[in-house]
Amino acid sequence: MYSEHCLPIFKPTVEKTFLADKIILSHGEDSYLLEGSLDFLKSLHAAMNGQNTIMQISDLVCTELPQKKHEDVLEAIEQLDQMRLLEDNYFNLNKLNYISQDVIDRWCRNFDFFGSLLSLTENKYAIQARLQEAKVCLLGLGGLGSNIILSLAAIGIKNVVAADFDRIEQSNLNRQILYKESDVGSIKSETAEKRIKDFYPQMQTDISQQKFESMEQLSEFIQGCDLVIGVADKPRMKMPIWMNEACVKNKIPFISGGLSVNRGVFYSVVPGDSGCVRCWRSQANEESSLSKAVHEDKHTTHTQFETPYSWPAIIPLVSFVSGAMVTEVVKILTNIGSPSYTNKLTQICFKNVETKVVEQWEKQPDCPVCGS
Ligand SMILES: [Zn+2]
Repeated sequence: MYSEHCLPIFKPTVEKTFLADKIILSHGEDSYLLEGSLDFLKSLHAAMNGQNTIMQISDLVCTELPQKKHEDVLEAIEQLDQMRLLEDNYFNLNKLNYISQDVIDRWCRNFDFFGSLLSLTENKYAIQARLQEAKVCLLGLGGLGSNIILSLAAIGIKNVVAADFDRIEQSNLNRQILYKESDVGSIKSETAEKRIKDFYPQMQTDISQQKFESMEQLSEFIQGCDLVIGVADKPRMKMPIWMNEACVKNKIPFISGGLSVNRGVFYSVVPGDSGCVRCWRSQANEESSLSKAVHEDKHTTHTQFETPYSWPAIIPLVSFVSGAMVTEVVKILTNIGSPSYTNKLTQICFKNVETKVVEQWEKQPDCPVCGS
């Protein structure tokens, strides 16, 4: 199960409390009480210094405590690994094989975060490398998009293709904190590119003042990307449909979200695994004639780029939603966790700051978009 090079050590995120007759290991929300043979636990702890292989650890412990067997040591290491308390120091000693020194300096705080979720056989530096190598497409640089692009740069996503056709307005500055007052009147795509290059000069960006007017145009734009983030809200009802069709056709996962009065909402689609937006709509129409009528009316009202309604927004909700969406980006790109928002619409509400699933759907085998 474990490599012969494996050098087990407690993760640096594990807090150890030694009491007279027990050891308490704390790790985030988890807390473990180790009772029983304290000599064994202490011997094991001393041997797991990050320099010894599992065989060497076993030899050291069994020499010190002759009543213990190799199987006892291996079983203890396996149990600690199942609790996600151990990492392989081999990866720490050889990290330059996986990432460069500039990445180590800038993203050192990411590594132990990723490491806290991994088992002894997994490499936390490889998670960062996956983010560095991925290519992400961001549609829209408004409220959510301008916050998301900064988060993508901060977490270490190096390759970003983005589009937005708007100019910066005074009224954007209550939430679009990538821009400054002196930018009012400037083109968002140009200003965003400049700001993001100031923040992360090595980021490979291709940001254009693109206005999408068809699914085909969108499909062309997202070619070669590993993931799409859709936060362009114009044309309002058509963008989710075009994005869904373009992403499913190209087998590219996508994440979308927005603000709706005093709540934020978000969902994701992983083509081949989850249902798509068409699956969602057809099930919602079947389940509720009222939902169908409202949705059809919205299509009539919002066919143009300009819509007659007010779209309120405040920065705290924008931050919540962009945070939820970038969390999903990390999970999908690195496989460090399963996607959290497929087959459901999740909301976070300003009133109680709680997330809840407000709509759910399943992949429809006969879906005209994603069905086989
Ligand atoms: Zn579908």
